Amino acid sequence: MRQIPGAWRRTAAGAGLVGPDGSIRPTIFAEMSALAARTGAINLGQGFPDEDGPAQVLEAARAAIANGVNQYPPGRGIPDLLAAIAEHQQRFYGLHLDPARHVLVTAGATEALAAALLALLEDPDDEVVVFEPYYDSYAAIAALAGARLVTVPLRWPDFQPDLDDLRAAVTDRTRIILVNDPHNPTGAVFASEVRDEIVRLADRHDALIVTDEVYEHLAFDRPHVPIATLPGAWDRTLTISSGGKTFSTTGWKIGWITGPAPLVDAVLAVKQFLTYVNGSPFQPAIATGLRLGDDFFAVIAGALLTKRDTLGAGLRDAGFDVSVPSGSYFTVADAGPLGATDAAAFCRELPERVGVVAIPLTAFATPEHSSDYRTLVRFAACKRVEVLQDAAARLSALA
Ligand code: PMP
Ligand code: GLN
Repeated sequence: MRQIPGAWRRTAAGAGLVGPDGSIRPTIFAEMSALAARTGAINLGQGFPDEDGPAQVLEAARAAIANGVNQYPPGRGIPDLLAAIAEHQQRFYGLHLDPARHVLVTAGATEALAAALLALLEDPDDEVVVFEPYYDSYAAIAALAGARLVTVPLRWPDFQPDLDDLRAAVTDRTRIILVNDPHNPTGAVFASEVRDEIVRLADRHDALIVTDEVYEHLAFDRPHVPIATLPGAWDRTLTISSGGKTFSTTGWKIGWITGPAPLVDAVLAVKQFLTYVNGSPFQPAIATGLRLGDDFFAVIAGALLTKRDTLGAGLRDAGFDVSVPSGSYFTVADAGPLGATDAAAFCRELPERVGVVAIPLTAFATPEHSSDYRTLVRFAACKRVEVLQDAAARLSALA
């Protein structure tokens, strides 16, 4: 593999983006999806649905292409999508947003996260507090932004953070508390005490809060609560979401970030030199999605709940211990009872052994902490029920 020149390589090596020899390391999702393709295994690794989302949304994209919505959209996003995002925040959370000042459309939640961290991290002493295990791009972007990652552990089996751990992690060096709720990879939905403490600590240490709420409509037990709705939170909080999970359009990469105008403007300043803009025909389609009726939003969480239960039962029958998720696409299982001592090795062998792909939780942790998760494995439930049943039958060969 070609060597990568320049300072980026040092930063990227620190973030684990390149191997010690300078070769580019694929993300764990790319590696495991390639393994699924090579072995023909059922892919419960990378979190993407195997069914299309709502017909109206797909049709709106087709219509937009047919009607010539194929050139650069405005930098902040098309006005109709900005309005639809503001309406959505009002309708579900009672937040009153000015579409022209408080909303920015991005190339997925991923770009929103990257632009927010690059925009808001100022100097090398800045720290970003994240809950570990964390979505893999968090550590990579923090490293590319030159900031230090400070982690708060989420522990098996309920993955709720300990408030003392949280208090210890947030200091005057903290620039951003980055919160993913519902949480990937654990499926945890944070307790209200956790959300309250995050706001209190951010206020006390003058930190910003960046939230990743891409699974906002996939919470099983109770409606999602954005941190931005808590008293005192709005002025220091940027809220990120995306249409990928809600509308089963992960490949469209239409995301958004909402918050107070000065923070959104700072993100725009960076974002305009990352992608500038993206996805013009998909923007009106996601606007259509955000305006779908309440029945649509109620049904998607219910359908995923059935899938979660099918997957969980299959994993238990196969001999795993299972953590019951309260939201997101994912279920974490402990392969320890099956004799596993190394989740990464277990996941690499699983396709050959039984024809199923999953992701080791160690992929979501810093190298120093990965041993805390050494027997834990993440399975994606966002597949058709018959696929999950087939996967369960295959996994039963492990028992
Ligand atoms: N955050 C989390 C927690 C995710 O699981 C994902 C991926 N699916 C993303 C961000 C990325 O979202 P997008 O595809 O909209 O960039
Ligand atoms: N968010 C998806 C997951 O956690 C994957 C996205 C990606 O491949 N980067 O599985």
